[in-house]
Amino acid sequence: MINRRNFITNLFALYFLNLMPKMACAFEIIAVRIWPSKEYTRLAIEHLDKNIKIKYSNEKNPDKIIVDIFHVKVNRKNLSKLIKVNLKNTPVEKISVVSSKADHSKIIFYTSPLTRARISSIPSIAHYKERLVIDFIPHTPKDRLLSFLKEYESAKKLNERKRLQKEVKKRITIAIDPGHGGEDPGAIGRRGTKEKDVVLEIAKRLKRKIEKNPRFKVYLTRNNDYFVSLRNRIKRAKRANASVFVSIHADAWVRPEARGASVYILSDKGASSEAARWLANKENLADLVGGEIVNKNSEIAKTIFNMSTSAQIKNSSFLGKEVLNELANISRLHKKTVEGAGFAVLKNPDIPSILVETAFISNPREEARLKNSFHQEKIASALNNGILTFISNSRLRL
Ligand SMILES: [Zn+2]
Repeated sequence: MINRRNFITNLFALYFLNLMPKMACAFEIIAVRIWPSKEYTRLAIEHLDKNIKIKYSNEKNPDKIIVDIFHVKVNRKNLSKLIKVNLKNTPVEKISVVSSKADHSKIIFYTSPLTRARISSIPSIAHYKERLVIDFIPHTPKDRLLSFLKEYESAKKLNERKRLQKEVKKRITIAIDPGHGGEDPGAIGRRGTKEKDVVLEIAKRLKRKIEKNPRFKVYLTRNNDYFVSLRNRIKRAKRANASVFVSIHADAWVRPEARGASVYILSDKGASSEAARWLANKENLADLVGGEIVNKNSEIAKTIFNMSTSAQIKNSSFLGKEVLNELANISRLHKKTVEGAGFAVLKNPDIPSILVETAFISNPREEARLKNSFHQEKIASALNNGILTFISNSRLRL
């Protein structure tokens, strides 16, 4: 029979046996995820080590990027998670892990020549634990904007041939911004539908609809499942010379009954309601959830993007009203007026910008609709009509 003292001693022994190896050296990897894109590939290693110490270096012949992790040892179970990651369509050719000492491991990424890396440690946020995020930038990353502009030029020539030039006095570029992507799934429905996937679908449908009219060109701030920072979304729209910016999202709330569409603009006078403030804060977390790697010049960029003008806000409000009117025809509205708050992705001094919450992904009925191609088409049509009405009523009028 175990007496009390023995029981406690055994308990302590068990406690230490369980914890000792972890305290000494285990680097507990929860998951390894990879997000390839033509611009860059993001690898996220989600782990439990709050005080991770890393260093990274490059070597040639063969090209490799070496990440040194100090004070931890990557055990065999973790190793297999790293090695099994699918490297298809990425500049990484092979990953190997070397544990040189008990408390020092090296992860070696063999890459295609001249691949650059950005590396960052991201503290626990939302449903994620700590993350080590490594971006691999190929030697010649595909410049999506450049190919967009080339495509734009060739389309223009084609239309000239079709004697459309008289009609095409000025082409209008519309930036469509599918929210979230890559590491950042956005809101997740009860059946596992991810906001990042449905909004990309809707955005692609909207692009096809808008471009039926040869006077319009759509620039998608992302066209696949990868992360783009909020600031980069704005920058890309600007460089594409967009006249309108529409960010597409799907809402979520703790209570499944919440439903309906809503439209938001940037507010320079604080949020129009507590709910709008809450939503803006949630959407602004996208950079942290997606694993944004902060660069040194971000402070300068911040001041530039904070200079939103009252003209932009006024125009955004007109655009928002037109879109909201159209959405009212296809679904119930969550908010009957355009609301405002400090959405980072709308901070663009020159371009009328709105953020559309198409429906509540947290509402099972709306989740099902968001996945349904027929309903996605309806949402895309409503957005298309709203945007076109705004354009024909504004100075952008052709
Ligand atoms: Zn969102």
